[in-house]
Formats: sequence, C-alpha cells, structure tokens
Amino acid sequence: MQRQFRNGPKRRNYPMAKRRFNAPRNVKGIHPSKFINKAIEPEADIPYVPVHSFQDFDLSKQIISNLDYLKYEKPSEIQDKCIPLSLEGKDIIGLANTGTGKTAAFLLPIINKLSRSRDMVSVLILAPTRELAQQIDQEFRNFSAGQKLYSTLVVGGANIGRQIQQIKRGPHVIIGTPGRIKDLIGRRVLRLSNVNTFVLDEADRMCDMGFERDIRSIASEIPRDRQTLCYSATMTDSVKKIVEEFSNNPITISVVKSATNDHIEQDVVHVNDKEHKVETLLEMLSQPEFEKVIVFGETKFGVQRLADRLTKSGIPAEAIHGNKSQSQRERALRNFKNNLVNILVATDVAARGLDIPNVSHVINFDPPKVYDDYVHRIGRTGRAGKTGKALTFVQPRDRN
Ligand code: AMP
Repeated sequence: MQRQFRNGPKRRNYPMAKRRFNAPRNVKGIHPSKFINKAIEPEADIPYVPVHSFQDFDLSKQIISNLDYLKYEKPSEIQDKCIPLSLEGKDIIGLANTGTGKTAAFLLPIINKLSRSRDMVSVLILAPTRELAQQIDQEFRNFSAGQKLYSTLVVGGANIGRQIQQIKRGPHVIIGTPGRIKDLIGRRVLRLSNVNTFVLDEADRMCDMGFERDIRSIASEIPRDRQTLCYSATMTDSVKKIVEEFSNNPITISVVKSATNDHIEQDVVHVNDKEHKVETLLEMLSQPEFEKVIVFGETKFGVQRLADRLTKSGIPAEAIHGNKSQSQRERALRNFKNNLVNILVATDVAARGLDIPNVSHVINFDPPKVYDDYVHRIGRTGRAGKTGKALTFVQPRDRN
C-alpha cells in the first residue's frame, strides 16, 4: 500500500508496509511486522449468537421488565457466558473491552441477589475513573429501577461531605474509585465488613494508574467469604497477581478477540532519519483525516521539543509528560479533550489510563520499547466500537 501526504504544492510518497516481514524479533526492540494489522470494520464482525435469552436466566421479573424497557433484546457474548456463572456465585475473571456489555454482565446478577437479600453496603464496585464509576452507577439505576435499591458514588474530585452523608444513609451498593474509597475507610466512615460481592472493573487500567496498593488495602477490609468479579481488557502480570490473591477458584471468560482491538488499523511508515520523521509528521498532520491525534515520543524532553516544533510550524499541539505539573497536565488534556488543540504529544507514562473519545489516530513517533506499551498506546484510538488508525514510524535500523 502506498500513501501520500501533501506538503504545500509538493507531493511525496511514504512507503507504508510494502513488504512482508520475517518472524518477529525479540532481542532488539519489537519487529515492525507487529505494528501492521488491517482493521476489521465494526459492521464486518460476525454477530454472536447467544445461547440464552434474558428470560432464560434466573432473574427477577422486575429486572426482565427493566431490560425490556431499556430495549435489551438479547444478551451480548460476555453477558451470555458470565451471567449464569455469576448467578451461581462463582468468582469470575472476565476478559472484555468497554463496549461489550460487561457492565450488565456483572450488575444484573448483583441486582438479582440484592432484590432478595437487600443487605446494606453488601456490594463494592471499584473502577479506575470517575467517568466509568458514574457510568456504572447510571446503569445500576436503570437496571434496578422500581426496586428501591440504592447506590452511592464515591469518587475523587467530588464533595466528600455529601458522600459521607450518603454512606451514612446505608446504600446497598458502593461504586467508586480506589483512592476515595480508601480515604473513607481511613476516616472510618465506610465499613466493608458486610460486603459479599466485590467487583474490580477495568482492573488492568486501575493497575496502570497506580491503584494496586489501594486495591490491596481495600480488599483486606472485605470478608474473604465473598464473590469476586474481576473484569479487565488484558491479563497483565499485576492483574494476575491481584486475581490470584483475591479470588477463589475463578473461572475465566474471554471475549477479547486479539491483544489489540480489531477495529484499529495498524501500519508502519518508513522514515530515514530524525529530520525526515518530523517532516513526515508535519505532512501527515496537515491532512484533514488526521482529526484528533495522539503522538507518542520516548523522552520527556523529546516530547516537549516535538510539541513546540509542531506549534511553531502552525499545528498547535499540547504535550504531557512527567516534567509537567499535575495542573499543567490537566490543562493540556482539557484542551485536547475539548478540541482546542487536535494534537497531543505524550510519553507512555503520562498517557496511561487516558480515556479520550474520538481519537482518530495514534502515531508512534518513537517506537514503543515493549509490546505491552504498544497495545496501551494504540488502545487510545478505536474506542467504543469506532475504527481508529495506529501508525508507527520505522527507521532503517528498526527493519533489520
Ligand atoms: P459496556 O460494555 O457495559 O460499557 O456497555 C456498552 C453499551 O452497550 C452500553 O450503552 C450498554 O447500555 C449497552 N448494552 C450492553 N448490553 C446490551 C444488550 N444486551 N443489549 C443492548 N444494549 C446493551
């Protein structure tokens, strides 16, 4: 395949993935062949045929009627496979991405159990971000409508006084981010001695964001005799460790088709040297299809220099890296999220756990050191069932 990027009146060709590569190399960097993968269009996916209908599950009438109202016609794959096991009280490791219906997969059996027992603070759900926790809370309200079941959202960045008041009223379910939950346990406002169902949602992202210690400390407050449901997009070493420590004979259900999202088209761009890389990037970014782009660089210094160079060349870019203060990073992210700039240049660490909608392209200006970093980087695009593109710059020294 040949792609063209225009720079003023001059047209140049940049060879993209022209030849087949030999088997991946492990010793020095990642072989470029691992950066190439044709995307499957979302509509080209073969639809999953569920074994069950929602009526087949042993769910309360009210839940079935709520599902009907919400127009949930049939279970998604993760729901079809996890709901029966979860209703039996089994511990589950669900490997699933956002958009697969994993929230209902864990919430429906929980609500079913609650509609019978109605125990206070008996369910704890941990999520990596405020937004995800809010989403789970909203879904809980939708599925449990009409049953007088209550949840409390306990997330950082929101008024803690109000959260304390709500916890004191005795909700059935606590949904929150690890930092704030730990804080409230420390203040002796939140007691987890009655929790019988513990959910870790997007466990890999929580570990990425440095919540591993908080999760450990929270889990130690929950009675061992409980059901643990852990959902994650990838089975990283940290997730494995957590699961081994906290669950009891878990059953793994995977609906993840490949290590990287199938909806991300991945390709390489051959470049000669440093200056050629910058020129190529400038040409790409001046194309209208490069709407919202995250560019990954290796070093803090390099990332800042690249963002400055792009901005000076008339392509405004923000940078996030470890040399920036928290408030500077937040401002840069806000500007990118709100489309005030369309280019974000980032280091791996600074970009961990970022959830930004509608990123059209991820460009690996510098190649990632390990394949796990590559998977994380390109996972910033192609989210929520959308198609995204990931392009990795490859210099001659990377090709041998
Ligand atoms: P999730 O992966 O849990 O974030 O869900 C992604 C979206 O799909 C949410 O908007 C859900 O409300 C929706 N959803 C999940 N399961 C179903 C289903 N069985 N039928 C219809 N919509 C669903």
